Amino acid sequence: MKPEECDVIKRGYALIDMDAIRFNVSSMLDNVDEGTGMVLVIKTDGYGHGAVPIAKAGETIDRVWGYAVACPEEAFCLRRAGCSKPILILGHAFEYAYEKLISLDVRPATFTEEMLEALSKAASACGRAAKIHVKVDTGMGRIGIRPDDEGLEFVKKALNMPMIEVEGLFTHFARADEADKSHANRQIGLFEAFADRIEAETGTRIPCLHCSNSAGILELRHANMDLVRAGITLYGLWPSDEVSRDAVALRPVMSLISHVSYVKTVEPGTRISYGGTYETDSVRRIATVPIGYGDGYPRSLSGRGEVLIRGRRVPIRGRVCMDQFMIDVTDVPGVRMGDKVTLIGTDGDETITMEDLGDLSGRFNYELACDVGKRIPRAYVSGGELLDVILDGESLTFDGANADLS
Ligand SMILES: *Cc1c(COP(=O)(O)O)cnc(C)c1O
Repeated sequence: MKPEECDVIKRGYALIDMDAIRFNVSSMLDNVDEGTGMVLVIKTDGYGHGAVPIAKAGETIDRVWGYAVACPEEAFCLRRAGCSKPILILGHAFEYAYEKLISLDVRPATFTEEMLEALSKAASACGRAAKIHVKVDTGMGRIGIRPDDEGLEFVKKALNMPMIEVEGLFTHFARADEADKSHANRQIGLFEAFADRIEAETGTRIPCLHCSNSAGILELRHANMDLVRAGITLYGLWPSDEVSRDAVALRPVMSLISHVSYVKTVEPGTRISYGGTYETDSVRRIATVPIGYGDGYPRSLSGRGEVLIRGRRVPIRGRVCMDQFMIDVTDVPGVRMGDKVTLIGTDGDETITMEDLGDLSGRFNYELACDVGKRIPRAYVSGGELLDVILDGESLTFDGANADLS
């Protein structure tokens, strides 16, 4: 199937460019040490792009060590889909999930004695050791042991606990995406000193040390260690506008596409959308787009966002509704119902990035990607072929003329 075939889903779809995923991974790997593996961070359904297809791509890339998710349910979903590489849970896993996550070989971030004991007990019940990654808080202030005497006692306890295998030790940067790297460098120093102290006092070198997120991969090569955790950059998006865009080339993975659902000519003095906040001052052509904040398209783009149509950039007029919004197409000749509308992506010479939408809406690019709604089908393309279209975890069947959305 050709990518254009998903265009039958007129209301809207997110095009996910799997070649861009592979490009971004290899481009990042070129910028990290040869001995460093990569963890694909695919929490929140792969930042809205779809965790399973991305993990399936990761299965075939040698230097991809495994995947990171936020909670056990996300890990179980990957195992159900047949993904076999290691999975790390970055957040706190509560006790109800321990037996299942041990039996599925999922590694929880571990940082309290209660967790250690409960994991050890669950591992005995499963008859298989629990692999854990100890989380160290070096300056994020979120979860993790402190890199101090008490923290060291915790690590010693973990190393001696029956049925527990300490596979990893990791920390997370709070400010690596800032131009000033002094805070991130302080965190690296604390983490390295703590890992050294563990080794000196226990004689054990924990096999997987890791601290870098996307910003670290881009700019803190001395923080590579055994693994790096690639999140936002995997999707071709930037951690902030302060990070350098020179070292690593990235290609945006997601485009968001809809089509005109109505077009009309209105008289001067016509008010558009809820609240009548916009009033035409002359005869205008107004088109309707059937996407709204119910799809994760920010309501704060009301009266200030832009979309692309026929290769031209046109303004949103009036408020963005839950399922629809209006654009002014007066300056674009020939706009008709069914015309393609690009909300994120490229049309001709014009491009709207997730970052542009973030700037215009006063929101965060990470948040916008995660928010692309469940009712938007994701269409996966690679090598000029349409691989699959997935809506809410289900693959849609295609007969070329009609998308079977049932
Ligand atoms: C989300 C997350 C990441 C990925 O962060 P990016 O900025 O998207 O690269 C890495 N590590 C931890 C602990 C996280 O929570």
